[in-house]
Amino acid sequence: MNKPTNINDYTSVVEADKAHIWHHLSQHKKFETVDPLMIIEGKGLRVWNQAGREHLDAVSGGVWTVNVGYGRETIADAVRDQLVKMNFFGGTTGSIPGATFAEMLIDKMPGMSRVYYSNSGSEANEKAYKFVRQIAHQKYGGKKHKILYRERDYHGTTITALSSGGQDERRDLYGPYTPGFIPVPHCLEYRSQWGDVDDYGIRAASAIEEVILREGADTVGGLILEPVTAGGGVIVPPQGYWDRVQEICKKYDVLLIIDEVVCGMGRTGTWFGYQQYGVKPDIVTMAKGVASGYAAISCTVTTEEVFNEFKSNADEPLNYFRDISTFGGCTAGPAAAIENMRILEDENLLENTTKMGEYMLEQLEVLKGKHQLIGDVRGKGLFLGAELVTDRDTKEPVPESVAQAVVADCMKENAVIIGATNRSLKGFNNTLCFSPALIASKSDIDEIIHAVDGALTRVVGA
Ligand code: PMP
Repeated sequence: MNKPTNINDYTSVVEADKAHIWHHLSQHKKFETVDPLMIIEGKGLRVWNQAGREHLDAVSGGVWTVNVGYGRETIADAVRDQLVKMNFFGGTTGSIPGATFAEMLIDKMPGMSRVYYSNSGSEANEKAYKFVRQIAHQKYGGKKHKILYRERDYHGTTITALSSGGQDERRDLYGPYTPGFIPVPHCLEYRSQWGDVDDYGIRAASAIEEVILREGADTVGGLILEPVTAGGGVIVPPQGYWDRVQEICKKYDVLLIIDEVVCGMGRTGTWFGYQQYGVKPDIVTMAKGVASGYAAISCTVTTEEVFNEFKSNADEPLNYFRDISTFGGCTAGPAAAIENMRILEDENLLENTTKMGEYMLEQLEVLKGKHQLIGDVRGKGLFLGAELVTDRDTKEPVPESVAQAVVADCMKENAVIIGATNRSLKGFNNTLCFSPALIASKSDIDEIIHAVDGALTRVVGA
């Protein structure tokens, strides 16, 4: 890939950034000695920083978002054309790209029916919670209002989304939390809470039933789960887990909400992560890959049954969904999403994701054979993790500084950007994560693996 010709001197912009920007997830003390990284241009999987250095981005825009890669002119053109024609009309109105994308989306989601637009993953999940709460009020006198969430899962940054979040690092310090959100145990077999059981998947799912019975089934209205847990450790659900979860939801009349904010739009090799496991959700939320970061858009998608709870009772004219999202009416999102989906289809990127994901998992296994520091590797499609431990027998997680040192080394020595998971359950922020754009080739993956291999050697040797 050629370096862009118009990399200029960005000194004054970097100074402006240092003077005025409050960076996400950043302790700003470090910027007294180091400049913040600014990404100036991108093409495919490559990005260029303010100094003109080329990087291979193995995390799709840092946060698993740019599924179709950088520099997609057809998406930019589609957004431009739409904005010139009609950029925004909010409130109760519809739009051509909104309706067109909804139809395309529902076509990929058999069993689902209605699309509610908003702007971020957090917001999409909040809408899902409001669906559950309103149904609880309309059908159950407010009783069936509790929503279960799982340890190590993440559902967003607003106070209520954090109240349903199982990652301490993001959640601590922001209480008191919204009441009515109840945790259930995580399903990471590598760190089984029940010792060495044969049917870990069934055991972990049955723990959800135990929580429902403890809380009272007549008080629990919803369960939210990531299909493959992202920031909490790249957790691929164990065998048997999803079937049992669905049985439990059916038995106790609990609405199943699937958070596809990371897995949606091909990340795991199917359109949606839940489709890997034959799940039939009631509500699905999505954001990041929907428009690959070319515009802000999120969707909360429901079955017709859920939708009907908000329209069928003609005697109750006030049972409509009393919710609005100003920029849920912006047409840039669906215009970008239409083109994003076309690219995923036209370039067979789901197939590529499955193939390249298998290849990358094999390569991570090879690294595991070579480096004692890797305790476990796992993943689905182009969404993979390598959990680092100080001792394979005790599975003691490496200190945070070790995972961070590996990430920093990949960047410094090979200009490869990888990620590490967030702290969950006091200390498990020890999983390296990889989620390159779905256009990744074998040679891109080899480059990532080479960087990680070198980093693990150097960090252990250090
Ligand atoms: N759900 C999941 C699984 C996520 O990973 C995230 C963001 N990382 C969110 C929800 C929240 O999305 P947003 O940051 O767009 O609000």
